[in-house]
Amino acid sequence: MTDTLQALHSHGFDMSTVVPPEPGTPARVHVQCSQCEALAINGHACHEYGCPNTTYACVECGDTVDHRGATCGDCVFQHLEG
Ligand SMILES: [Zn+2]
Ligand SMILES: [Zn+2]
Repeated sequence: MTDTLQALHSHGFDMSTVVPPEPGTPARVHVQCSQCEALAINGHACHEYGCPNTTYACVECGDTVDHRGATCGDCVFQHLEG
C-alpha cells in the first residue's frame, strides 16, 4: 500500500493518502493532487487536462518524465556515453 502511495506521489499526485480501512474492507488509497481535481478511473490515477503535475513516461524506459515524448535523464546520459 505504501508502494502504491509512493508511486502516486512520484506521478504528481502529491496529496494522495491512504484511507483508513473500515472493518472488513481492505485499505484504499485516495488519489489527490494539489494542482487539480485528480480522479481514479478504472484503477488508474488521472490528472485533469493541463494539470502542471502531469507526468509522462520516458519513450525509452518508461520512467517518469516531465514532457510527453521526452527521454529521461538516465537514457539521455546513456546516449552521451555512446
Ligand atoms: Zn493534477
Ligand atoms: Zn529513460
